[in-house]
Amino acid sequence: MTNTFPIEKFRSVRTPFYYYDSALLRQTLDEVKKEAAQYPNFVVHYAVKANANLKILKIIAAAGLGADCVSGGEIEAAMRAGFRHDSIVYAGVGKADWEINTALDADIFCFNVESVPELEVINELAKAKGKIAQVCFRINPEVGAHTHANITTGLAENKFGIAMSDMVPVIERAKELENVKFIGLHFHIGSQILKMDDFEMLCLRINELQEILKTKNIEVENINVGGGLGINYDDPEADPIPNFKDYFKTFADGLHLTPGQKVHFELGRSIVGQMGSLITKVLYIKQGVNKKFCIVDAGMSDLIRPALYDATHKIENLTSDAAPVVYDIVGPICESSDVFAKDTAIAGSKRGDLLAIRSAGAYGEIMASQYNCRPLPQGLITEDLK
Ligand SMILES: *Cc1c(COP(=O)(O)O)cnc(C)c1O
Repeated sequence: MTNTFPIEKFRSVRTPFYYYDSALLRQTLDEVKKEAAQYPNFVVHYAVKANANLKILKIIAAAGLGADCVSGGEIEAAMRAGFRHDSIVYAGVGKADWEINTALDADIFCFNVESVPELEVINELAKAKGKIAQVCFRINPEVGAHTHANITTGLAENKFGIAMSDMVPVIERAKELENVKFIGLHFHIGSQILKMDDFEMLCLRINELQEILKTKNIEVENINVGGGLGINYDDPEADPIPNFKDYFKTFADGLHLTPGQKVHFELGRSIVGQMGSLITKVLYIKQGVNKKFCIVDAGMSDLIRPALYDATHKIENLTSDAAPVVYDIVGPICESSDVFAKDTAIAGSKRGDLLAIRSAGAYGEIMASQYNCRPLPQGLITEDLK
């Protein structure tokens, strides 16, 4: 059992719900800012897609981070939460016209462009508004991140980005167009990356590409290295705040920058992952043939990561001190993948107990659906339960 949860308050809230420890979020933001500030040319954006709960966005915007968006809706959410318009970067392989127009109207910092046809459409829509859109090109660096196949994005056979061999021609194409301005390169190799070697590889690749551009006299003001720093799902208590110091140092040491060049980061999971838990109630303990099932009221509609990515989350019973029992902890949804944990020991549980599914602050609430006509889970921060 942990004593950092306001368990008595939890009892009066309809389960399942997301609980966000706002103190941990603020500490995490302080740490990110402190470590990034070691390098005056580093700029940190928060990847809105990890958690777009308005209360969370407002705390992150107030801390002064920029926003990394992947849709028009995220740009609107970021603006509503108070992110500065000129701190917004916008990536995505399939930007629709209304989304590009939303970004142009908001005067965002930069579009991270993923193809030539997209570049041409941005140019056309910017022209119609009498604007010049700043663009970075998302280059596919063919660096394989050691993570689940569904969340690697930097390999060659991937829908994301522009091939390295096309980099120079697309930049030259941008220079011919009047309503776009080339300002840099963008990369993103994947998510839940814990080995700094992957980021070191990315730095080496960026250095190679910069050498090529130098020979062509192409100036690059901004290098955006994306996000992807992972968190400790097995033991959130051991690493409540990710190692931002080593992460930033990896880029500071690895990148060969030109004077005045800015480095942008797009961190999602590492900022919001550990502050969140999905709180769920035990409905039934069912004895199977060879197993015991702990059936809870949360399902894959509330937290899809285990079903979608084989993700594991630490689960604890907040209201029982009984000796550990091994269960399959499962939800009520009519899908056999609706399983939060297999053969997992937690304190002996009974109907009505509250469980915390930990490290669920990123890609949790935002990915919830109404599958099976279930209501969406609420997202509550510490202040909501005072
Ligand atoms: C998802 C995404 C991020 C954030 O990734 P995390 O692993 O949550 O840090 C950053 N940039 C882009 C382009 C993304 O698609």
